[in-house]
Amino acid sequence: MVKTTIKTTKSQEIFAAAQNLMPGGVSSPVRAFKSVGGQPIVFDRVNGAYIWDVDGNQYIDYVGTWGPAICGHAHPEVITALHTALEKGTSFGAPCALENVLAEMMIDAVPSIEMVRFVNSGTEACMAVLRLMRAFTKRDKIIKFEGCYHGHADMFLVKAGSGVATLGLPDSPGVPKAATSDTLTAPYNDLEAVKALFEENKNQIAGVILEPVVGNAGFITPDAGFLEGLRELTHEYDALLVFDEVMTGFRIAYGGAQEKFGITPDLTTLGKIIGGGLPVGAYGGRRDIMSMVAPAGSVYQAGTLSGNPLAMTAGIKTLELLQKPGSYQYLERITKKLADGLLKITQETGHAACGGHISAMFGLFFTAGPVHNYEDAKKSDTGKFGRFHRGMLERGIYLAPSLFEAGFTSLAHTDEDIDKTLATAKDVLSSL
Ligand SMILES: *Cc1c(COP(=O)(O)O)cnc(C)c1O
Repeated sequence: MVKTTIKTTKSQEIFAAAQNLMPGGVSSPVRAFKSVGGQPIVFDRVNGAYIWDVDGNQYIDYVGTWGPAICGHAHPEVITALHTALEKGTSFGAPCALENVLAEMMIDAVPSIEMVRFVNSGTEACMAVLRLMRAFTKRDKIIKFEGCYHGHADMFLVKAGSGVATLGLPDSPGVPKAATSDTLTAPYNDLEAVKALFEENKNQIAGVILEPVVGNAGFITPDAGFLEGLRELTHEYDALLVFDEVMTGFRIAYGGAQEKFGITPDLTTLGKIIGGGLPVGAYGGRRDIMSMVAPAGSVYQAGTLSGNPLAMTAGIKTLELLQKPGSYQYLERITKKLADGLLKITQETGHAACGGHISAMFGLFFTAGPVHNYEDAKKSDTGKFGRFHRGMLERGIYLAPSLFEAGFTSLAHTDEDIDKTLATAKDVLSSL
């Protein structure tokens, strides 16, 4: 048993009160720690690589508000830029020159993006891109992969079906069958399954959407040839290829997975980092397809706060910081040190594990692996992960409170932070 070494009385009081006020006491489910057990901690403030809870405990953070904090929390340049922008107001609901600036940065950075539309979340970006895929191809069906998350819209709430090629069954009460009946699913990294779906649904499939590197089923990388194969199959069957880079965009490379792997999709969704910690999402891609979006075209999509000057400012500043020479070399170096170190410690302490990293994204599964898809990921020892998570938390290391989430580093994480994290992991894993 890992003994409790921190006091979290205030966290517990606040969370107990929250449970009467909000379902589960949270504004987003995973925050409630249900999959790792124990009580969540309530944050008071964040800075750099660190968070402080309401009881005054400090933690090294590997969640980074689920991705946006790649430059470190509350980066002074982002905060200063936000102060300046704030003086001019919070939202215009009208064109704002900052939208041009961020749009241009994204178009320059992300190979597939020739035009972009800003929205307010990754969920919204994925909903909108789906409508656009269907409008452009005049087809309704889509293929998604088991374990890939594309936000909480009805059409994407489909998990694993049984067998290789199944019609989607809704994953949540309240999602009508009709909403997911055109969502086909395949196991990640399984090109044969995708080809079979295209054959069985000739001229009906609008396209394929995926996380080019999975971060929402734990960290799973595409096998050699998988992304290439999807590009070829979508061409062969006149369907669109969509990369959901809400997580990977500007994280695994400045230009995202499409730059990293040299595969250019037709459309891309983004979020998280491009908002620098403020609510944002975006979708973009080929000019001929994006030109169908209203008011240039007839595919409707709108948003009261879309492109607001605060989100644009934080996004612009964050991308500027990432453009500095050496940023991605640094992220790669410290993340490799962390991911390799964790694996080595699991070996030394006799725990079956596998994992890896790409740039500032990493993962660890408690299974010998290898993990190619969601089914493999589910073999990971969830009980052990829960105890590992709690042990790390109680020693000042904040990991994502779910086995099925990737971990994130930032430019603010130092060698010292990584060393401390590894020493703590060794301590915790020895005691499990
Ligand atoms: C986080 C995420 C989303 C959803 O974004 P929200 O801003 O939480 O709505 C969609 N797709 C992927 C790949 C994500 O990681």
